[in-house]
Amino acid sequence: MGYSDWVENHAMKHKKIVEKLVSQGLEKAAIIEYFDFENMKEKEIDFCPLYAKNKKCHEMESLNCYLCSCPNFRFNDEGIKKVEGKTQFSFCDIASKDGRQGIYGEKIHQDCSGCGVPHHRSYVEKNFDLDWAKIMRVCKA
Ligand code: SF4
Repeated sequence: MGYSDWVENHAMKHKKIVEKLVSQGLEKAAIIEYFDFENMKEKEIDFCPLYAKNKKCHEMESLNCYLCSCPNFRFNDEGIKKVEGKTQFSFCDIASKDGRQGIYGEKIHQDCSGCGVPHHRSYVEKNFDLDWAKIMRVCKA
């Protein structure tokens, strides 16, 4: 699955949950709280394949799933540019010190495995919108 397909699929899952919470009368703070990893793995098992394994994507004590993947992620499935003969497909727009460019054969992808930026509650609060797809619209490079 390319980045675009993943984003489309994730947007639908995210929207369905948010619509359910809004229909129950939840507002911003409670919605963000609901997206805490510990709650999501119990109530929304299909949202992330890691929930079934009780595994976090990043080792953080308190991990929020609302802004998975990350508004700072930039991607293009067709490739963004050539770097020393290889094709770069993604990068971090803020060049986070905790991210890195991973080289996989002829392909370069942003590796966010060491970065927890979008999973902090404070970051989610600052970048919040009920429409996840709207927040992530900037990600297509
Ligand atoms: S390195 Fe961090 S801030 Fe940058 S795109 Fe990845 S998760 Fe987001």
